[in-house]
Amino acid sequence: METKIGKTKLSLIQGDITLQKTEAIVNAANTSLLGGGGVDGAIHRAGGPKILEECKAIRAKQGGCPTGEAVITSGGNMKTKYVIHTVGPVWSGGNRGEEQLLRNAYYNSLDLAREKGIKSVSFPSISTGVYRFPIDKASRIALNTVKEFVQDHNFVEVRFTLFSERDLKAYEDASKEICR
Ligand code: ADP
Repeated sequence: METKIGKTKLSLIQGDITLQKTEAIVNAANTSLLGGGGVDGAIHRAGGPKILEECKAIRAKQGGCPTGEAVITSGGNMKTKYVIHTVGPVWSGGNRGEEQLLRNAYYNSLDLAREKGIKSVSFPSISTGVYRFPIDKASRIALNTVKEFVQDHNFVEVRFTLFSERDLKAYEDASKEICR
């Protein structure tokens, strides 16, 4: 599914984020930046050891990545030039600022891309795997944050690469409300 928000193309597709050729892809990392399961594991496997080395250098400088923040490395062996590593919140019922933290993760990823002059970015569904954020809420936060951001800062494309058909459907449903 494709729509336009101002000059920015917003696409929702089902697929593997490690294969996307946008200038940057976003990793749903954890605060250690040392890799993990899910999309994080897939990105480190596909990108090779260079990404982990760069993450370790960032750790040495700033000691990991707090929840809601973002850092950037190269794309290693992948087609993408950059990986933006952000840390989404663990869902624990909704009373611990999870919604704001998820918003921050998307916002700070987009802001880092903007700062680097990156014009196309692919996101996974941050926090809705092991971190258990309900996807109906998460998809709305994701799309609203992107929508607000690209109204002020043009990108060529912001793409959501959803791993399952069910996840794609959730994002499509949310976009019908938000991106009309
Ligand atoms: P989190 O810890 O932020 O919840 P996960 O990696 O557990 O992150 O899950 C985030 C989402 O990424 C889930 O919807 C999961 O299905 C999806 N995912 C896993 N591997 C890939 C991949 N290769 N490409 C795109 N999405 C993926």
